[in-house]
Amino acid sequence: MQERNTRQRQIVARLIQEAGHPLTVREILDLGQRQMSGLGIATVYRTVKRLLDAGELQAVVIPGDTVRYETVKHHHHHFKCNRCDRVFDLDGCIKELKSMVPRGFKVENHELTFYGYCRSCA
Ligand SMILES: [Zn+2]
Ligand SMILES: [Zn+2]
Repeated sequence: MQERNTRQRQIVARLIQEAGHPLTVREILDLGQRQMSGLGIATVYRTVKRLLDAGELQAVVIPGDTVRYETVKHHHHHFKCNRCDRVFDLDGCIKELKSMVPRGFKVENHELTFYGYCRSCA
């Protein structure tokens, strides 16, 4: 049982990394089932939770949207495709964003999501 858990964890962690963009539990399940027949949604949820607890994954929360998960990495932003519903990583950040904040306010973090059509859907 322990060995099976480890294998599921490795598969889930690897396919999120290989996807290169944040995935929903449903997307993880679809991809995972190609590599491991009999993989169920409850197992994916449990495995994702373990990887989150271990600090290997982080949640990508877009308001009003399903939570997605990605490999932990430096600060970056996301692009959500309005047609295929996929979310992509955008590298870098705009320093000038901070200048929008009124004097005397202290920023702790920020989230920024672009919406539009990805290359395949545009
Ligand atoms: Zn798209
Ligand atoms: Zn990301």
